[in-house]
Amino acid sequence: MHLTEEQLNEYLDEATTERAQIEAHLSSCEECAARLSTLQNVFAELDSLPELELTKSLAAPFTLHPSLPAQLPKFLTLTAFLQAAVALVALIVAVPFASALLPQIELPSFTKLFFQIQTQWTVWLDQLSTFNLPTFQPINLPTLEMSSLLFTLAGVSVLWILGNGLLLRNQMK
Ligand SMILES: [Zn+2]
Repeated sequence: MHLTEEQLNEYLDEATTERAQIEAHLSSCEECAARLSTLQNVFAELDSLPELELTKSLAAPFTLHPSLPAQLPKFLTLTAFLQAAVALVALIVAVPFASALLPQIELPSFTKLFFQIQTQWTVWLDQLSTFNLPTFQPINLPTLEMSSLLFTLAGVSVLWILGNGLLLRNQMK
């Protein structure tokens, strides 16, 4: 059995409990002696490398600026509150606006949608219980109504982000 890399490393680090055994093996095994001297050369070379100073501290961007308070500044809380208020107003404003822009589209009736899904579910359950292969009956999803809802949500999101930027910019000054 030759010496393992771990044994050789521990021997070099003088952190081994089997020093005598290792030395006995090294004196009788050229291969392991050669491996040991290779390792020694590598470590010697590493030690001889100059310690290079980093031109820029990598830790600095991650270190909290000491002047920053530990708690969230008050204006951030205020900003979040104002955001919520603005978003609520925007939502209320945007809903009739969206339906006025698309007058032929009614806002989705969730009750209607719910009953459609429930009905479809019942049909599927019936088909499963009678062991028939379910025939695909597409739910008449109100896709146009859904797109109207998405349109409204997208508008609110944009307003939210814009409001966020404006509020932060003003309060940072
Ligand atoms: Zn050996």
